[in-house]
Amino acid sequence: MTYQPIPLARPDLDDDTVADALAALELMLRDGRLSIGPHLEQLERAVADAAGRRHGVGVSSGTAGLHLCVRALGIGAGDEVVTTPFSFIATTNCLLFEGAKPVFADIDPESYNLDPAAVEAAVTPRTKAILPVEVFGNMAHFDSYETIARKHGLALIEDCCEALGGKLGGRAAGSFGECGVFAFYPNKQITTGEGGMIITDRDDMRDLCVSMRNQGRDAGGGGWLAHPRLGYNYRMAEPCAAIGAAQMRRLEAILSRRREAAKLYDSVLAEVPGIHLPPMAERENASWFVYVIRLADEFTRRDRQVIMEHLRARGVSCSDYFAPIHLQTFVRSELGTREGDFPQTERIGARTIALPFFGGLTEQCAELVRDALVESLSAAAGKA
Ligand SMILES: *Cc1c(COP(=O)(O)O)cnc(C)c1O
Repeated sequence: MTYQPIPLARPDLDDDTVADALAALELMLRDGRLSIGPHLEQLERAVADAAGRRHGVGVSSGTAGLHLCVRALGIGAGDEVVTTPFSFIATTNCLLFEGAKPVFADIDPESYNLDPAAVEAAVTPRTKAILPVEVFGNMAHFDSYETIARKHGLALIEDCCEALGGKLGGRAAGSFGECGVFAFYPNKQITTGEGGMIITDRDDMRDLCVSMRNQGRDAGGGGWLAHPRLGYNYRMAEPCAAIGAAQMRRLEAILSRRREAAKLYDSVLAEVPGIHLPPMAERENASWFVYVIRLADEFTRRDRQVIMEHLRARGVSCSDYFAPIHLQTFVRSELGTREGDFPQTERIGARTIALPFFGGLTEQCAELVRDALVESLSAAAGKA
C-alpha cells in the first residue's frame, strides 16, 4: 500500500484559478511580455485594496519587500529597530542587511505577538522603528504598536507576511504604520511561487520602492540605463504575478476555507489534555496562516521531538515553528544574545507544533491528526 502523509501546507488552487493562470501564461508566452506587465499591476491593486492601502509594490519575495522598506525609511548603521525574536528569520535579517541593530523584546504568551509593554521598554534614543509581526496571522496588539510608534515618533513597519486579508476591530492586516509587507511563498494564504508585496499610503515610499526593486531606475525620465540610486533586482516575474492575481479573485473563499479548517481543529482538539489551542483574535475575521498548538509546560523540548517523530510516523506532517531568532547561531554571534534573554519566547518556542493545515482539510483528516496526537502525547508522557 502506498502511503501519502498529510502535508503540512498546500496551496488552494481550484480549477478556475488554474485555468485563469494558464490562459494568462499562454498569452504571455506568445507575446513575450514576461516581466513588468499588466498582471503585476493587477496583483498590486488587489493586494493594496485588501489592506486598505493606496499603493502596492510587488517584489520577488517577502524578504526583499522588508529589505526595501528598511532602506526606504533610511534605517541603517547606528539605528535600532525593536522587533520580535519569535518570527521567521527574515524579520531580523532585513535589518542586518543594512547594518541596523535588531533590538528584541519578549512576546506576550497569550498572543505570541510582541508584548506592547516590552516594546515600549526597549525604546531608546537610537530607536528608529518598530517591526512587529502578525505571528501565524494573529493581529493582536497592532493598535498598541501604532500608539507607541506615534508617541515616540518612530516608524512602524508591519511584517504582515502571515496575515493577508485578516481583520481585527475593523482594521485590515497591512493597514498599520508607514508600510507593510506580504509574502507569497507556497505555504502562505496565496502564492506566486516566490514573491512579496509592499503596501503603503505614502507616494514617496512607493516611488522609492519601485525604483529600488528595479536597479535604482527612476520611474520618470532618464531611461533604462539611468540609475540615480543604489538598487536591486527584486522584480516579480509576470507569470508569478498572474498566478497571484488569479488567486486574489477568490481571496475571500480561500480565507473562509482556512477558517473552516481551523474551526474543525478547534472542535476536535478542544478536549485533548496537555495542549493549548492557537491564540487568534477575532477568529471569525482572522486570516489563518498555520494552525499551531502548544504543549503544556510540563512537556520539554525533548518531549516535543518525541511527539513530532511519532506524528510523522503516523503520516502526519508537522513542524516546530518558530525557532527563537535570538538563539540562531549567526544572530548570537552578531548580537551577543543568549539563552535566558527572552523567557516567554523560549518557553513557547520549545513547545509549539504546527499541524497539517490548508483550505479543504476534511473532518476525517482532522480526526486522524487528533488520534495521532493523543497517542503521541501519551507516548511522550510515558517516557517522562
Ligand atoms: C514568509 C515570511 C516572510 C517572508 O518570506 P519570503 O520567503 O522571503 O517570501 C517574512 N516574515 C514572516 C513572518 C514570514 O512568515
